[in-house]
Amino acid sequence: MARTSLTCGIAALSALATAAHYHVDPDVASKTAKVTLTLDQGQTSTAFHMPAWLPGDYELFHYGKKISEVSFLRDGQPVPSQHTDTDPDLWTVPSGADSVSYRVVESRGNFSPNLRIRSDEVFINGGGVFGWFDGHQRESQKLTVTNVYGPGARAATPLPMVAGKWVAKDYDHLLDSPFVFGMTVKTAQVKLGSRTVIAVGYGLATRIPADMSAFAKTGAMAAEQTLKLVGDLPWQEYRFYFDFGGGGGGLEHLEATRIGTGTSDPRQMAGIIFHEFFHCVNVKTVRAQPLGPFDYTKAAKTSTLWWLEGVTDYYADVLAMRAGLSTPEQTLQGLFNSCDSLNRSTGAQKVTASEASLKVWDVRGSFGYGGLSYYSKGAVVGHALDWAIRAESQGKHSLDDVVRQLYKECHGGPGYKDTRIRELVVQYGGPKLGPLYDSWVDGLAMVDCRLEAGAFGVELDGTIGRGQTPSEAAMLRSWSQGVAYSGSR
Ligand SMILES: [Zn+2]
Repeated sequence: MARTSLTCGIAALSALATAAHYHVDPDVASKTAKVTLTLDQGQTSTAFHMPAWLPGDYELFHYGKKISEVSFLRDGQPVPSQHTDTDPDLWTVPSGADSVSYRVVESRGNFSPNLRIRSDEVFINGGGVFGWFDGHQRESQKLTVTNVYGPGARAATPLPMVAGKWVAKDYDHLLDSPFVFGMTVKTAQVKLGSRTVIAVGYGLATRIPADMSAFAKTGAMAAEQTLKLVGDLPWQEYRFYFDFGGGGGGLEHLEATRIGTGTSDPRQMAGIIFHEFFHCVNVKTVRAQPLGPFDYTKAAKTSTLWWLEGVTDYYADVLAMRAGLSTPEQTLQGLFNSCDSLNRSTGAQKVTASEASLKVWDVRGSFGYGGLSYYSKGAVVGHALDWAIRAESQGKHSLDDVVRQLYKECHGGPGYKDTRIRELVVQYGGPKLGPLYDSWVDGLAMVDCRLEAGAFGVELDGTIGRGQTPSEAAMLRSWSQGVAYSGSR
């Protein structure tokens, strides 16, 4: 197949003078890619790294093990070097070298492929593909890819193109920008005020009769409800990458998500669409301090993954309900069922939510530790905290206030300290919330969702109680519709 470069003309990049340039050359036959990373003229470094892990995966993968044929260059000429470092992700750079090339094999993390090369497309999630030169992570990064697919090939990436190169603000941005290029790419978009939600279909998208505009509309419902909750969104354009036939799971990014799907009906995907989308707020903006800017050389430990993953699950349910995709009764019954199965699990009797978060790095899979999933426990705790704050504040506040405040504090700034969530829960719910939080998050107390919801006239099976008072009904409406409660009890 014709191999034409996507680099079209070398225009002056004076505004981006201090930058590194990545070029990816996929090889369809071997399913590998040659990556060349070149520093701008006059720039050097002493060390080259591959990431030990990538954001969204809370597990060390050591992507240095996925590359071979590592060769350092000076002015385009190879410089002798040996990989004698004991760290599998670290290479000492020979003096004066300004470029490195290496071959990378296909890999995947827990929730997404990192590199996948097919006869008709290439998909890149940068963490398993792109290394970095020490001292240059905070500079803008340029990207080009050899077009091995010929005319008609299309790219989908959040990265803007400047003078024929895709440009990332820095290394974090490069790794946070999924990239698909080839003959399979289909897109549709929906406007949300001044913002745009784009659905990108690839993989088997051209063979599965999927209406990408329907996927874009469902994605936009998640965006609309999140905007209503938070009052802001941290992007102008957001891309849902639907990987048809590409295996389950989803991986979040600030301006995008990659979701594996086997169906052409986006409503069947609402749970994962709302979950992954809500991550643009909760984990990509509202985040623990180690979760951005990142240190890719070591585990980014936080005791709050129950909040970042489990409370995201809770809001996926709540926001889908507010979008009209489920009724309050269906949502309550689902939440109660989750609560029951959590309370029956042996993990919940032995491991706390904060411990499952901190120790996830000790085990594989990015779900929890010791038999406790921080997704399940976090969703149930989020639900119970929400009800408790509403009850204690007489309906004036809710967990929505905690999310909004965390967003204000973290957007454009550093991540939160792990103690900040408790402080805000007490600030909005009052002093009784402190011991409750401690017993549910740092302790092993069973969470009784029915007890918490009973204050709103909800029956034990999740149906809305017949004896519900007008004020209870108003509080429940406030929860199910996402509006502030203004009545009196
Ligand atoms: Zn998640």
